[in-house]
Amino acid sequence: MTEPARAPATELEVRIARMIAHTGPIGVDVFMAQALYNQEAGYYRTQKPLGSTGDFTTAPEISQIFGELIGLWLAQSWLDLACPTPFNLIELGPGRGSLIADVVRVCTKVPGFLEAADVQLVETNPYLRASQRRALGSITAHWHETLEEVPSGPSLILANEFFDCLPIRQFILGETGWHEKLVGLDGAGRLTFGLGPALVHPPTCAHPDDTIGVVREMAPGLEGMMDSIARRLLIHSGRALIMDYGDPNTASGDTLQALYRHHNINPLDHVGEADITAHVDFAALLNLAQKFGLTTSGPTSQREFLCSLGIEARRDALIRANPHCESELSLSVERLIGEAHMGQLFQVVSLDSPLNPCPGPPLGS
Ligand code: SAH
Repeated sequence: MTEPARAPATELEVRIARMIAHTGPIGVDVFMAQALYNQEAGYYRTQKPLGSTGDFTTAPEISQIFGELIGLWLAQSWLDLACPTPFNLIELGPGRGSLIADVVRVCTKVPGFLEAADVQLVETNPYLRASQRRALGSITAHWHETLEEVPSGPSLILANEFFDCLPIRQFILGETGWHEKLVGLDGAGRLTFGLGPALVHPPTCAHPDDTIGVVREMAPGLEGMMDSIARRLLIHSGRALIMDYGDPNTASGDTLQALYRHHNINPLDHVGEADITAHVDFAALLNLAQKFGLTTSGPTSQREFLCSLGIEARRDALIRANPHCESELSLSVERLIGEAHMGQLFQVVSLDSPLNPCPGPPLGS
């Protein structure tokens, strides 16, 4: 079988190739960090990723009902926390701002909520920051490069399709032991995948019953991210809602995926022009959250979560009010909760501060 033709090398690929020629092959995490976050040419610094003209579509972009239900979750959480005033309404990676705009719209109905909320958006992409500003209209918001920059205080945190951007390392169990998957150069000087030498010790993500050929992944930045959330929630009350795609348990397998204009491509093509993601390891995420002292709920499938928040009733009410939109509304809700669509592949977890006054679990868990 012949390999599909490679896309011409981008300038960022040429720069990464030069780096590899000097220093030797690099981990998949180093490659991903360059491809996504290189200051001048990284995907999340330079591109407009979302929507029909971009590379992928997310839940809040599919239907406003998603943001409305998340707004309901936030409003109930704010009440559960005894209405802290002021509080940080934080979104990590808000994309085009659709989710936060829908949340704000629906939360105008909750007395006191918006007056108390300081909208804090953590976003690296200048184009997306501009979209977020437009989506929010007259609502004041503050932008940050990292969560650490957000002022301390009670916080409600949202992250939809944010953790899948965290760079991952990949390991493969071969006949002679564990090897790290690396990015090196082929004979033509193009980027190619290869294996590093056998490791002296198995990687920390290895399982005792792993068999030859198994691939294991770990995101080195996950611990730092969870630490940052936990440090905030250990000082003040608060809650975080994390939604992403991944297995509820730690699964094995290669989940590295590159999307370019809504097509899956070789992650080593269109470097800096394609979105590169990996499944979130929810078991690892929850273990870290608990280790850092947070109470966790989930994972719950997106289907279960949205259904328990009443997505079907909301769809039916919208259809009654707009009968001509029936097929569009039914289709978009099916994309959000259908088993064959996002319903099963996406998982939802929430994290609670030990300082929260409410004894019960968050809505939807
Ligand atoms: N939450 C949005 C967009 C998801 S795409 C939605 O559901 O529509 C990922 C988002 O995270 C983009 O806005 C991207 O620019 C941002 N992002 C990715 N990595 C980031 C990082 N390390 N720090 C801050 N923002 C990041």
